[in-house]
Amino acid sequence: MKSCLLLAGFFICSVSSEAAVNATRDSAFNYESNRFEKKGYVLHFTSNAADFSAAVKKRMVDAFFTVYPKLVEDFNRDAAKEVYFKIDTAYHGVAATGRGNVVYDPRWFAKNPGDIDVVTHEVMHIVQAYGRSVGPWWITEGIADYIRFKYGIDNEGGRWKLPEYTDQQKYSDGYRVTARFLAWIEARVKDGSVKALNKVLRDHSYNKDSWKQITGRSLDELWSAYSKDPAL
Ligand SMILES: [Zn+2]
Repeated sequence: MKSCLLLAGFFICSVSSEAAVNATRDSAFNYESNRFEKKGYVLHFTSNAADFSAAVKKRMVDAFFTVYPKLVEDFNRDAAKEVYFKIDTAYHGVAATGRGNVVYDPRWFAKNPGDIDVVTHEVMHIVQAYGRSVGPWWITEGIADYIRFKYGIDNEGGRWKLPEYTDQQKYSDGYRVTARFLAWIEARVKDGSVKALNKVLRDHSYNKDSWKQITGRSLDELWSAYSKDPAL
């Protein structure tokens, strides 16, 4: 009798917890909620902009769950599993990231509702987690834009692309200019270079010789070759 009850109790418990999990899963994606959960990742989404587009919010949430787990898997399995997005009228810029927090300027999305891969760039910064970086800022930003180029879900819709090479550029320009240089290194010199670069930045062993160790060529040699034949 006792074991029967226990058995029944266990059975009921397991059924009801399974139902509860399903209910959470469904309600998490009604997009009205500010807490979303999927496969071990949690996204908190808050906004103080009353008129922030529900469609943009939905796309940002979807972009997070599409891109972030892949970046964690590929670049840093210890990255935060719980992330906070805040749409903040007090913030002026496009977006900024610190630890597991990303703040977005609602005015940017009002003007550029298709620019969803801002999310991809910003969440890569969470994955990078270089802390007190020993590397220059332009590599950090170049990697984040390279990741946007490679993992972005709708760069075309955001009217975002890598610029063609010009002789006005320097590798240290950061963002898209550096991103294109990294894409060229991946395509023409050694694939996996960005992953290797991310690793030395994460473990604080980066120095100017890292380029040679990773690709077989110094940074200046790479840029010189890139400037002569920049096709991807
Ligand atoms: Zn950035």
